[in-house]
Amino acid sequence: MAPSLDTIANLAKQRGFVFQSSEIYGGIRSAYDYGPLGVELLRNVKDEWWRRMVQERGDVVGLDSAVLQARQVWQASGHESVFTDPLVECRNCNQRFRLDKLTDFHTCPNCGAKESFTEPRAFNLMFRTHTGPVEDEDNLVYLRPETAQGIFINFENVRRALRLKLPFGVAQIGKSFRNEITPGQFVFRTREFEQMEMEYFVHPEEADRHFEYWVDERVKWYTDLGMTAENLRVRPHEPDELSHYSAATVDIEYAFPWGWDELEGIANRTDFDLRQHAEHSGEDLRYFEQDSGERFYPYVIEPAAGATRTTFAFLIDSYHEEEVRGETRTVLRLHHRLAPYKVAILPLSKKAELIEPAEKLAADLRRHFMLEVDVTQSIGRRYRRQDEIGTPYAVTVDFDTLEDQAVTVRDRDTMEQDRIPLPGVLTYLKERLGQ
Ligand code: ATP
Repeated sequence: MAPSLDTIANLAKQRGFVFQSSEIYGGIRSAYDYGPLGVELLRNVKDEWWRRMVQERGDVVGLDSAVLQARQVWQASGHESVFTDPLVECRNCNQRFRLDKLTDFHTCPNCGAKESFTEPRAFNLMFRTHTGPVEDEDNLVYLRPETAQGIFINFENVRRALRLKLPFGVAQIGKSFRNEITPGQFVFRTREFEQMEMEYFVHPEEADRHFEYWVDERVKWYTDLGMTAENLRVRPHEPDELSHYSAATVDIEYAFPWGWDELEGIANRTDFDLRQHAEHSGEDLRYFEQDSGERFYPYVIEPAAGATRTTFAFLIDSYHEEEVRGETRTVLRLHHRLAPYKVAILPLSKKAELIEPAEKLAADLRRHFMLEVDVTQSIGRRYRRQDEIGTPYAVTVDFDTLEDQAVTVRDRDTMEQDRIPLPGVLTYLKERLGQ
């Protein structure tokens, strides 16, 4: 059974994954801080995305563009004008509506909820700030609401520097900011979040084929990292749902505790963005194909995922409660690559004669794995704590270790234990952790 939102939020706080931002001042609802465990999990999710999208491919390169960009970027992309209408949002389904488009001010046209609208606001989703000391219109800049535009404006820089030929992609992971009207559902929708986006530039005639390919490829990424296939679905957008730039979009959705909701969008953005930036900047952003002598604007296939949202989904998906000898065991069955700590080292007692070999083993293994040495509480409680944070292996150093130079290694999922000679521990763990 899927855990409730409260269960996950509690575990996240108690075990150091996610804290409410500014909690000692009462907290702000729209931002979260990632604790020692959360920062590892989030980082592993981003690393796995980068590994699959950049490292393991020959046709995708990386980029890290600035959060602050010229205001014209957002004029060209349409963001400055698209979000400046008076908007209301339905508190029930979180859909936003332009006030001037509503025919009935009392009923949500999407979910039918009554009197569920927020107060109308002339709303631009982008956060505004100013560069330099003078806070006037000339110095206005936005915090980026997506990472994608940083890629489009560098299309020619990247292509030329790396001598890239179509099809090729540019990938970026980074923070984005949206002044969401109703943030909520824990870290699902926040005002500051991280995205993992890739723009794949193709010949316009090949766009459909690449689109299909990326939908399959992206679903596979989630399941390869252990996400339950039944909890994922691909939902094509209805024609009236499509963004102004998009020829086709599907959402990869996850069965969150409140229902199906978006994890990632995959869009055929056509040549909209490159054309817009060419027009606004005066730069020729067309691609020249030597063989055919053709000059054209490439189409773009964009898989756009949320790093923080995806991390949240992995947390939910891995959460299991099970009966073990009459007691409930909570375990995060995280894929080994995602687990924050790969190994826990647990000396059976606090006596120096056990702490010493435990610390020595930890020092050796730390060069290979993220690990924790835990000396407090009973061994049973320590196992339970490691299960709750998803640590795949726990290594116990006991009094027999002093005699036989061996340790007990416990598997998180099967709870089976193996006695392994100390010199073989690293190989044993490496084989099982796939590293
Ligand atoms: P939504 O409909 O949920 O607001 P969107 O369709 O506007 O999302 P995109 O612009 O397609 O989102 O962004 C790509 C991805 O970035 C989303 O699939 C999501 O994972 C993530 N994302 C977008 N907005 C937020 C947010 N406010 N908080 C956390 N993640 C977000």
